[in-house]
Amino acid sequence: MRYPQTFVDDLKRQADIVRVVQDYVQLKKKGANWMACCPFHKEKTPSFSVSPTKEIFYCFGCHKGGDVFSFIKEIEGVGYGEAIKIVADRVGIPLPRLVDDDRFAVKRQEADEVVQLNGWALEWWEKQLETSAEALTARQYLERREITEETKKTFRLGYSPDSWDALSSYLRHKGATPLQIERSGLLVKRDDGKTYDRFRGRLMFPVFDTQNRPIAFGGRTLKNEDAKYINSPETAAYIKGRNLYGLNLTRDEIRRNGFAILVEGFLDLIVPYQFGILNVAASLGTALTPDQVKLLSRFARKVVVNYDGDRAGVQAAKKSIEILLAEDIEVKVLVLPENADPDEFIRKFGAVEYQQRRAKAQPHIQFVIENALRDRSLHRPAEKAEAVDEVLPYIRAVQSRIQKREYFDMAMDALQIKDVSLKRELWQSLRAPAHVAGSAGQRVLRRTGLKPTVAEQRLLELLLANDNLRKEILPSLQKSDYDELATASVFTALIELEAEGQEPDLDKLSQKTGDDPVAHDLLPMLLMGSSVQEDEKDQDIRLAIANCLDALRLVNIDRRIRELSAEIAAAERNGDDARQVELIMEYGELDRRRKGYEPQSRIAHAESS
Ligand SMILES: [Zn+2]
Repeated sequence: MRYPQTFVDDLKRQADIVRVVQDYVQLKKKGANWMACCPFHKEKTPSFSVSPTKEIFYCFGCHKGGDVFSFIKEIEGVGYGEAIKIVADRVGIPLPRLVDDDRFAVKRQEADEVVQLNGWALEWWEKQLETSAEALTARQYLERREITEETKKTFRLGYSPDSWDALSSYLRHKGATPLQIERSGLLVKRDDGKTYDRFRGRLMFPVFDTQNRPIAFGGRTLKNEDAKYINSPETAAYIKGRNLYGLNLTRDEIRRNGFAILVEGFLDLIVPYQFGILNVAASLGTALTPDQVKLLSRFARKVVVNYDGDRAGVQAAKKSIEILLAEDIEVKVLVLPENADPDEFIRKFGAVEYQQRRAKAQPHIQFVIENALRDRSLHRPAEKAEAVDEVLPYIRAVQSRIQKREYFDMAMDALQIKDVSLKRELWQSLRAPAHVAGSAGQRVLRRTGLKPTVAEQRLLELLLANDNLRKEILPSLQKSDYDELATASVFTALIELEAEGQEPDLDKLSQKTGDDPVAHDLLPMLLMGSSVQEDEKDQDIRLAIANCLDALRLVNIDRRIRELSAEIAAAERNGDDARQVELIMEYGELDRRRKGYEPQSRIAHAESS
């Protein structure tokens, strides 16, 4: 339940933030703002300021800041809803009745309906598997796989009859409306508007969320159709890549064991489970997603990846390793002999043999190295370089420094790199920005811990405080000027707002910068513009902006120059003369540009003009 957004917006506009804050602290007018000693931390000289025009407060001492509601939340120690009540009361505006956020409520109800229909389908399919004559092939298939009656019940397996409308008739008979049935994803709608049952003549595997609600299905063919498995489409209850199969049953065991075994298919989970290996989760065909890893990491921070040993399986395993490392999960890889999958292996050799191999699963880096060395010779420098390139990203992604060093040493040994200075260079390159084909996860890693520089903060303050100069300067910024900065999201937001013809204020900027923690902490201060003097001349501001830009461009150039030194050395080692010449040219060009950005030359230039 919440207040209508229009009411909150109106209230904020009408609540004079100065008047509201005044009730708690003695404000004194200073320029356009009001100042006081901060109520949130101890101080003798005022660093707490309130801007009536921007409708925000900010403390330069303890960095608390925000709008009038955040102030009340903070000072009264209440929640957001309560803060709205207090402000409305102070301003004398009657509260509207609480409303549920309509869209949210509708969506939740739709999701509940999908779950309800899935539940009916699931029970009906279970009965079919047990009793119908048609389901004989399904029962035989499970028998061949040695699936017991108990396992069938635990995983609620079922059989969907080979009929175009048997399920929909049943759902209608249970009381579902045509619209509900259509939204459930259990039907397919043709272009001409006619519908038919999605799952026909298949062995059904229901997928549950961690609250044990049936949210989707996978259906396996029993007739050698092209599509071995078909799955539920996304519905109000089911978003792909958010759930892991089996986790509703295995989460506690995963927590107890301190690690999860990650497999690919339904039976790769069901068969180990039947044999008493209970700490397993399945990613289900689609590539593992960061959301799935976040879900899994609530139960364990260690994962043993056990995918198929074939080529596709190895590629999928490598992808998963990257995603897992980015979430700071310790990864081992289990490769079963003769490319067996867990299902086959356990039925053939038993759980004890499986557990023994699992205990000897290799650290992720060993798996990556072995794959990098397959079909490559370390005696050929170019192939050795390729192998290094392939392996290093999986070391770079490791978050613990001690483990990173351990893996690095393992890799250097395996790749036969003995030269001490080369090793040092590679080690250092791991801490430099990843200009190797950087995945999004890598970029995030690089961003974390990056601190905003004085120059970028001052530049943003100047741009925010001067509407005319902002409109003039923003279009001249290159993406490369701010792309690598800690405040990149603020620059991007400013440019977007400018393009949309909107004035930047706290609300709009916060919305655009989303959950970027740097922007969140910095925005009130930037908007308050402490370094901006009110009587500063236009000409001086221009010069200040130019100086900040120069400083930032200089930082970028220095970063690239550091990269280039390493790349030139690498090209020389690889005997790639053409590349080396190219890199040296770039180096010279950058060095020349660097001189143009020395701040002194800019100031000298300004003074002489
Ligand atoms: Zn403070």
